[in-house]
Amino acid sequence: MNIVTSNTGYPRIGENREWKHILEKYWTKKITRVAFELEMKQLRINYLKKQRSKGIELIPIGDFSYYDQVLDTAVMFGLIPERFQSMEEASLEQYFAIARGTDEHVASEMTKWFNTNYHYIVPELQDATPKLTHNRLLDLFNEARYELGIKGKPVILGPVTLIALSKGYENSEFKEKVAELIPHYIKAFQELAEAGAEWIQIDEPILVQDIDQPTIEVFQEVYSRFNKELPEVKLLLQTYYGSVERYEEVIQLPVDGIGLDFVHDKGSNLEKLRSSGFPSDKLLACGVIDGRSIWKSNLLDKQDQVAKITSYIQPSQLIIQPSCSLLHVPVTTANEKSLPEQLVDALAFADEKLKEVVLLSGSLKSPEKKDELRAYSCAITEFHKDTGRVHTDVQRKLSQLNELTATRTSFEVRKEQQKKKWQLPPLPTTTIGSFPQTKEVRAARLKFKKGSLSEADYETFIQEEIQKWVNIQEELQLDVFVHGEFERTDMVEFFGQRLNGMEVTTNGWVQSYGSRCVKPPIIAADISFDQPMTLKETLYAKSLTTKPMKGMLTGPVTILNWSFERDDISLREMLNQLALAIQEEIRQLEANGIEMIQVDEPALREGLPLKEDERADYLANATYAFRLATSSVEPTTQIHTHMCYSEFDEIIETIDALDADVISIEASRSHGEMIHTFERYEYQKDIGLGVYDIHSPRIPSKIEMKRNLERALRVLNHEQFWVNPDCGLKTRTTEETIDALKVMVKAAEEVRTNL
Ligand code: GLN
Ligand code: ZN
Repeated sequence: MNIVTSNTGYPRIGENREWKHILEKYWTKKITRVAFELEMKQLRINYLKKQRSKGIELIPIGDFSYYDQVLDTAVMFGLIPERFQSMEEASLEQYFAIARGTDEHVASEMTKWFNTNYHYIVPELQDATPKLTHNRLLDLFNEARYELGIKGKPVILGPVTLIALSKGYENSEFKEKVAELIPHYIKAFQELAEAGAEWIQIDEPILVQDIDQPTIEVFQEVYSRFNKELPEVKLLLQTYYGSVERYEEVIQLPVDGIGLDFVHDKGSNLEKLRSSGFPSDKLLACGVIDGRSIWKSNLLDKQDQVAKITSYIQPSQLIIQPSCSLLHVPVTTANEKSLPEQLVDALAFADEKLKEVVLLSGSLKSPEKKDELRAYSCAITEFHKDTGRVHTDVQRKLSQLNELTATRTSFEVRKEQQKKKWQLPPLPTTTIGSFPQTKEVRAARLKFKKGSLSEADYETFIQEEIQKWVNIQEELQLDVFVHGEFERTDMVEFFGQRLNGMEVTTNGWVQSYGSRCVKPPIIAADISFDQPMTLKETLYAKSLTTKPMKGMLTGPVTILNWSFERDDISLREMLNQLALAIQEEIRQLEANGIEMIQVDEPALREGLPLKEDERADYLANATYAFRLATSSVEPTTQIHTHMCYSEFDEIIETIDALDADVISIEASRSHGEMIHTFERYEYQKDIGLGVYDIHSPRIPSKIEMKRNLERALRVLNHEQFWVNPDCGLKTRTTEETIDALKVMVKAAEEVRTNL
């Protein structure tokens, strides 16, 4: 019996983030285009070889990208925003311009990819004429074929999901927009078929969301056309991140295989398989190995699960694979030398997941391999049983929580008291927290880490940076200061290093957007406060100025969503553990005179479950945790929060319920659409709509910032309005930051005088 092993997508960043470094060298013109393409090719080839050597039979092609797979697909099909259409079509220059903006033009919007921490570039359809600009999949397929003898499985984002994720059209045009793309998909697929491709994986993750009848009809039409016009190649319709809505219709679509997620489906895909069966003429690509968690699988359980699945289909219909692309997990545990041994043993990153796929499929072929599975799974079962991971004090506090432990005086009362206390001008200016993490800052941290810079010297260095930026803020005449976050690598990792129960990896990077990677900490045990985490730097900054100094923390929801969570307790329990720890930090800050405190929750929206019926629960838990963390303070203490790249419509009630005094949000990149959400809702609390996009190196003009500001003030009351950039400034250069903030302060001043 042959059970095919497959992979759905491999991380592109490399074991040591080589990919990021190549990209950034190219962007800063340190390497030529030829060198860039050559170095990227090397990586790509290595990834393919690695997957082959692990024993994966269906190896994905085209999952490799120079920035983002949605942008790849959009550019491949000519979905180019009008402002970039004069550039050479499908050139690298045009591709990066859409992603990153140019001096003349803003970049396309970027937003969260489903419920993950990956961001994609939103295609803009308004002025685009679909066509096949270049068949990138064909090039990549041929490369693998002729250089490695690998007959890869091209992977592409499907047309229905592509359009669903795009903007610049009316709902009523949806069907037509999809239809316009179909001939070009067909052409690309035909070329692949002629080149010898046997399987093409078409990702349609919107199938796991709640979809309506017209959308399912679009699917039926599209896939019938594919079926009719592409007899010579097999199509695998891939879904992930949850169970398939409209299962009965989906399994009847005329394709050769269907990929289902049997990990994040809450048992529902298996249930539907049991109740509605599965067509005997299709393959079932079983996503049984968790593509998103970092824990080893208990392969004995997985074997049982596959046994259940095969009671409804023939073993010959089976493909074993991860539940989704491995984009969301780090590359390998092999370089993790500093984690506790017992923990490393319990981990599986991308390479180890592929090993699990192969082990599992091997055991299905030869049942005598059960012992091997048992031996492999031992580490994770032992880890789960370890009582050293339980913190009794935290458990006791959790059992005493109620609604009152998370409630403040009413906002109206607080607002009055805070107005008196803080005496801020109208439209107060501030920033979101971080200032540039320059080469020097990173070099100092690295030296400190390696031991060539003493702790005292490192602290002095950080103090000097703080001093420098307090001076800059004085010169800029900002109203509310921050210390700049120079001591932090990353807003979540920093806390992960300091909280009990969390561990930080050496090389556990994953791509967040573009070349930006994050290193999520691992929640390994019960979480608790150890000692103050942000007090020293914040107090030092405060000592240098009479301006209000805003303390800067990461909220419980974001810490959780940007960490690798435990798989043995509930999300709610993890959230409340984190909230109690942050509450203690806030108590320490407040007791020491830091009375404006920002608790960042940029990840609140992205954790929103894809299915509507699960959302209320998530939002209630998130709200409670945020309030638990922030409600122990005096009414005069001003709690800020910050969120970015969100569609706020669905969570506006939650934002209000968080009960933060001030929220700063991203608004410039989505071209002002956000304001209306707050207008419609008649939002009363203070709000800072980002007046410029920090993700692009471009310095916007004063006119542009004033326009953003005035547009917001047309619908929001100026008494509730703050002026700030979109997000933290750590990725910008010192010059860019100062120049842009200068413009921002000037714009605010001018608008202020006209109030
Ligand atoms: N305070 C953080 C910073 O400025 C917020 C970052 C974020 O929202 N992602 O870097
Ligand atoms: Zn942000």
